[in-house]
Amino acid sequence: MHIVVLGGGPGGYGAAFEAARLGAEVTLIERSRLGGTCLNWGCIPTKTILRSAHIVADTRDAAAFGLAASVATVDVAALRARKEGVVDELVGQVEASARRLKVRVLEGEGRLAARDRVEVRLADGSTESVEGDAVILATGSDVFRLPNIDHDLEGVWTSDDAVTLTDMPKDIVIIGGGVIGLEFACAYAAFGSVVTVVELMDQVLPGNDKRVVKQTQASLEEMGVAFHLGDAVEAVERVDGRMRSTLRSGAVLESDIVMSAVGRVPNSAGFGFEEAGVEFDRRAVRVDEHLRTSLEGVYAVGDLIGGMMLAHVAEEEGVVAARNAVAELRTVGAEIHLETVRYDCIPACVYTFPEVAVVGSGRDSAKERGIDVVQAVAKFAANGKALGEGESDGFVQLVAEKGTGRIVGCQIVGPHAVETIHEVAVAMRHDLTVRQLAETVHAHPTVSEVIRMACADAAQKCGC
Ligand SMILES: Cc1cc2nc3c(=O)[nH]c(=O)nc-3n(C[C@H](O)[C@H](O)[C@H](O)COP(=O)(O)OP(=O)(O)OC[C@H]3O[C@@H](n4cnc5c(N)ncnc54)[C@H](O)[C@@H]3O)c2cc1C
Repeated sequence: MHIVVLGGGPGGYGAAFEAARLGAEVTLIERSRLGGTCLNWGCIPTKTILRSAHIVADTRDAAAFGLAASVATVDVAALRARKEGVVDELVGQVEASARRLKVRVLEGEGRLAARDRVEVRLADGSTESVEGDAVILATGSDVFRLPNIDHDLEGVWTSDDAVTLTDMPKDIVIIGGGVIGLEFACAYAAFGSVVTVVELMDQVLPGNDKRVVKQTQASLEEMGVAFHLGDAVEAVERVDGRMRSTLRSGAVLESDIVMSAVGRVPNSAGFGFEEAGVEFDRRAVRVDEHLRTSLEGVYAVGDLIGGMMLAHVAEEEGVVAARNAVAELRTVGAEIHLETVRYDCIPACVYTFPEVAVVGSGRDSAKERGIDVVQAVAKFAANGKALGEGESDGFVQLVAEKGTGRIVGCQIVGPHAVETIHEVAVAMRHDLTVRQLAETVHAHPTVSEVIRMACADAAQKCGC
């Protein structure tokens, strides 16, 4: 059994490694570096940069902790070297896993020539045809480029430029107040840049719960970030070595850099998918709940299929697609059990200061779906560990079903939110109730005690 995987990001290597573990022969085709956007331009570079930014922010508060300390300069070259070291280490580990699992990695750009064949243009210009019993497409996503902005203009950046760390702008205009825009806003503000965020919607983090949005915007404003909400950048020019952004409202913003962070689009064009018969929903490849495309034996995962464009989602989809592909190839004539991804209990995180982490639904969207829910809120301001750490802004907000106490969702803004959310995700995945979490003793002092408090309150309100 031979499985061909196109694209070596988390979706692609997740699929390739799982298929190999299940005994398939696997070819993984990657045109650039293994690790994809996540390791090379996304999750890992940004979080490595944000760690340095956090140190600067902490040092700025040093006096409040009884310390005399300051950061004199931000050494961009040293930041870059550290980031590259972390990325290289992780890419090396993915390469080592491929070797250990005997996955053949083919360097080149692949094109789906038929449902069971990928033509690969290799670096030396030659072509290799790879045939498989199943093909898993995982070509990821690309930066969305606003049509009214010339992205080739000097001084216009996307996140790909920002993570290369060539410069530290004195001032920066960030277009887009979503996850990527706010993480960069936080980093640059901590490093001392003057940061302005322009967001088309009338709130940051569109689609998120109101309390989460309010707290996050307030924290960023406290760091000095300015917001133009419900506004849009209509034109960007370079004048005397500076960028001039004209907004729909008429406001004009001057800056060293304009960074476009308005989202990403599935990387689905130009690789023969459509010609081979794969169907789309706009630019995303359409899949069923088992990650099968419209073409028999061809699966698709990750950013390419849209939805929650996150690395851990892509990886889980890769694993599930590989299991389903192997199951379909192995089972002849008998009933097959195919797997699905439980999207309802996958966390999504924003690495601002403080962090944001959400899982499941907020109260309003649960109500819209006809679920009778209660909401309980507990604040970090009353938590010993958070106060001791000087990070007592934020809250845990829990949404649970009335009567049963089943957890429907949770939103956390506060210290270590991206770690503590998993307690709730595990509970949701295994149908635990707020009462069961509240009955579990949490170590003291920990910020997780706030989750327990919210659960205890929710249990009382639920009557469970
Ligand atoms: C700035 C930024 C920060 C982010 N931060 C986070 C975060 O903190 N947490 C999180 O969960 N997600 C984050 N993401 C999103 C995350 O990076 C993506 O969701 C994830 O990488 C998607 O994985 P994927 O495998 O679907 O695609 P990708 O990681 O994009 O991988 C696709 C791979 O396919 C290759 N490829 C494409 N076409 C071909 C072809 N024809 N032939 C051969 N190879 C091809 C590409 O070179 C690439 O390596 C971030 C993204 C960005 C841009």
